[in-house]
Amino acid sequence: MNKEKNAVETLGKCEDIRIRLEPEQRLRIEQISRISQRSGLTPAEVEEVLRKARESLVPLTKDVDVVQDDGATKTYHVSRSGVGPLNTDMGKFWLFHIEVNDEWKTYDVLYKGELDDNQMPILDGRPLLLRIDSACYTGQIFNDRTCDCKQQLDEAMRMLEENRGGMIIHIPEQDGRGNGVAVKLATLALQDSLKLNTVEAALAILEDELNLDNKDAPQDLCKKIDARTYGGAIGVLKFFNFEGGPIQVMTNNPDKMKWFDDNGYTLERIGMTVEEPTEHNWRNLVAKSKLLGHEGLVSVESFSDENLIRDKKLIRD
Ligand SMILES: [Zn+2]
Repeated sequence: MNKEKNAVETLGKCEDIRIRLEPEQRLRIEQISRISQRSGLTPAEVEEVLRKARESLVPLTKDVDVVQDDGATKTYHVSRSGVGPLNTDMGKFWLFHIEVNDEWKTYDVLYKGELDDNQMPILDGRPLLLRIDSACYTGQIFNDRTCDCKQQLDEAMRMLEENRGGMIIHIPEQDGRGNGVAVKLATLALQDSLKLNTVEAALAILEDELNLDNKDAPQDLCKKIDARTYGGAIGVLKFFNFEGGPIQVMTNNPDKMKWFDDNGYTLERIGMTVEEPTEHNWRNLVAKSKLLGHEGLVSVESFSDENLIRDKKLIRD
């Protein structure tokens, strides 16, 4: 009996809440004033927050032209389908959920700064502090130590907070340098058991898909190991009405910058600091430095001699 009574009471409360939040019904005056007291906002500000939260669910779209790496121009359809605040260990940010009709489809944009009335970034005229962040499911979600992706994302968020402005364009579908989570997991098996570095592991997994007798094979191979493209990320910047302005790109990978250069942005590269190499990630860091041209990750010289690495006890025999 008691159980039934509680259930009825709970249902009553839920129904009450549902009715109160029905979009077409305005909150009653007394409810607004109660929320006003709880939040410390004026009744008008409470109404404004409610209006914006509801409007954020209405997609905002724009078509933008982006120069590709072959010089051709492509038009992207860019759509904002959500925006809301995050309170993180690194500070408070806005997160935008953006959809683009390219091969990567979704872009999560972490933004530090003010929003205008349409909940779009107000860019303050300073160079835009920017990081393009490919998702790393294994490192950023589960803290796998094979790579430094989580440290790089954390560092970028700290830099945005310190700068009181900037943007991180996070691209979920670009995991495994654009080859996807399944390929990434296969390469992790080779890195873990065979002690291959990230590039050797990717080659071992992907080379069957390539015709190595083809004279274009080396370029094909490079594109296969790193299949990422950045037209959609530039589309996101243009969607935010940021066209051809000065950008400070937080990256150790100079290749990313060519896309922005070709689209008329003025660039300055800001290197990312990384943690000390560990027994888990040193092969990855050396391979990114020596084979993929990333800069500033490790002193390559100090890692060119395996004996030295052994001395540093980074290899377990
Ligand atoms: Zn990673």
